[in-house]
Amino acid sequence: MVNTTTATTLKHLNADLHCHSAVSDGTLQPEALAARAKANGVELWALTDHDEIGGQQRARDAAAAIGLSYLTGTEISVTFADVTVHIVGLGFDTDNAALHAGLAATRGGRRERAMEMSDGLAKVGIHGAYDGALKYVGNPELISRTHFARFMVETGVCADTSEVFRKYLVDGKPGFVPHRWATLRHAVTWIVDAGGIAVIAHPARYKFSANAEYALFSEFKAHGGRGVEVVTGSHSAADALRYAETALEFGLLASRGSDFHSPGESHVDLGALPPLPDKLTPVWTALEARVHAPA
Ligand code: AMP
Ligand code: MN
Ligand code: MN
Ligand code: MN
Repeated sequence: MVNTTTATTLKHLNADLHCHSAVSDGTLQPEALAARAKANGVELWALTDHDEIGGQQRARDAAAAIGLSYLTGTEISVTFADVTVHIVGLGFDTDNAALHAGLAATRGGRRERAMEMSDGLAKVGIHGAYDGALKYVGNPELISRTHFARFMVETGVCADTSEVFRKYLVDGKPGFVPHRWATLRHAVTWIVDAGGIAVIAHPARYKFSANAEYALFSEFKAHGGRGVEVVTGSHSAADALRYAETALEFGLLASRGSDFHSPGESHVDLGALPPLPDKLTPVWTALEARVHAPA
């Protein structure tokens, strides 16, 4: 149980339900993230590594040891209408076999994709990017664009990771390789069947037409999805207001998470987010029974 007494305090809980460790593309270990979340005043935390739950036990144990309430988490890569969409899962059972298999299948193509990315970069004179990126990888099954970006900052190709993405790693640029991730139906089903809640991550980041976005939210709900991130590190205040309306329109629970990856790179730290707009129902009110409370 969350350590609160009234519905009001539950509503204003400092929940941070989205961040990454070195088990995916963050730079800190789960234990260091737990300590940082606690130090920053987080009251309910979830580690949501991309396509991976290998860090969950460590995160949960570390949280318990320092008196921090914990929800299990992951962030699944999905292809919807040819666009990559991220679906956060919260409060699921980490022993669920179908979830394990689904995440393993989703991770499966990353190595080949990375080798193709490296070939694309070599064509514009950036050599050794695959091996270079590997130096930053904490989990051999999870090589991501972020690791390439770190290598290209280290070698002076760009000044920071956002410049690397802009110039090299997004659609149409030399290091971009189109990739087919999980389907929306599968990702939501894996999470829901494991007892968790599926949440559309950072919706303002996707370049959808109004129609395609409507289709995303409608199909997500039809598959059993129940939440949307309203306050996240990659939303402006205007984005949060816009998706607060979307949450109400679709009857979705609202989530809040920094999407913290690294002290040097992320501009929003763990727990350092504005509150959810008052009129929304926080996703954690529907996950009370799934919270791992410290002893
Ligand atoms: P991947 O799953 O390999 O496609 O990598 C996606 C990750 O790249 C995201 O989770 C972010 O951590 C990072 N990312 C995506 N776009 C940007 C950007 N414009 N600037 C910095 N990092 C980004
Ligand atoms: Mn990431
Ligand atoms: Mn994401
Ligand atoms: Mn993320």
